[in-house]
Amino acid sequence: MPRATTSPVDQRAIADADLLTSTLADGAHPIIEVARLRKAYGSTVALEDVSFAIVEGEIFGILGPNGAGKTTTVECLSGLRVPDSGTVRVLGLDPQHSRHAVRASVGVQLQEGSMPAKLTVRELVDLFASFYANPLDATELLELLGLTAKCDDYYKRLSGGQKQRLSIALALIGNPKVAILDELTTGLDPQARRETWSLIEGVRDRGVTIVLVTHFMDEAERLCDRVALIDSGRVIAIDTPAGLAEREGGGNHMRFHPSRPVDDSLLTGLREVDRLEHQGDRIVVSGTGDLLGAVISALATAGTEAKDVRLESSTLEDAFVRLTEHPSETSEEDGRR
Ligand code: ADP
Repeated sequence: MPRATTSPVDQRAIADADLLTSTLADGAHPIIEVARLRKAYGSTVALEDVSFAIVEGEIFGILGPNGAGKTTTVECLSGLRVPDSGTVRVLGLDPQHSRHAVRASVGVQLQEGSMPAKLTVRELVDLFASFYANPLDATELLELLGLTAKCDDYYKRLSGGQKQRLSIALALIGNPKVAILDELTTGLDPQARRETWSLIEGVRDRGVTIVLVTHFMDEAERLCDRVALIDSGRVIAIDTPAGLAEREGGGNHMRFHPSRPVDDSLLTGLREVDRLEHQGDRIVVSGTGDLLGAVISALATAGTEAKDVRLESSTLEDAFVRLTEHPSETSEEDGRR
């Protein structure tokens, strides 16, 4: 039954989406907007409150621990799941009300196991192409994905990397504006992972907006323009991978031997320094901004030099671990050991 009015929850969600959009860079067009999404499976609340906006042409990562709600979120985007409340707009359309239009514009990478084993690569690509009004040229796409030599092979005969590349081909054959890729490189060897990353960058360069669900931090750092970190059904951070690493990863670290003993307060008094630690005769300072420059000039004023300097940046993984740590769970587990 069509809904005649917008519920108060939806009105709030639309206002939230406007708010989210207003925080994007000038000239950035949101192609996907999600606001106040909630979804429960019986008594399990998978999504408590999920909001974000994705800009046209970006690779947007959805990260989070197992069970955080990543898959449920992207299933709501593609119209495969109906949220209990909140709003989803994909190319300005509600995936529930405009199911066909959204499916025609959004390519979804299917997981292994959902593919018929006794079709060849070419038959599968042609089958998927037949679902769309304006598909890409299958021969060209297979060439782009390095699958031309495998056209006549049955799906079940393909290697892990080839299956993965085929699943990407099937997500792209409909010439989508948005591709949703879930666990893109799971099970691939390091070489195949790098090849897949280059491939995805090529797809983005052709103008496709990519939503990438991943739990690999190196993958997100390499590929994503921005990431949303989801934990227990809530978005707990949205930023560039580098921004998140710097802001939430505990800062950068500088290790050095001072040429002469220094008073800690010389360094802990600096705006750039958050923490100072002694490791034997080495000093480790952690902080943000121009940590190296600030420490070196402070040491110089005291007639000291930093020797054997090593700089380490905090990583997205540091930020992920810090943000998704649940102290009560950790101490419960420790108690059980
Ligand atoms: P993620 O992709 O981050 O691992 P999911 O979205 O798959 O998270 O799951 C979020 C929560 O919802 C988990 O607790 C999961 O067990 C639960 N869940 C997911 N799908 C179903 C389902 N079809 N029925 C019941 N519970 C589900």
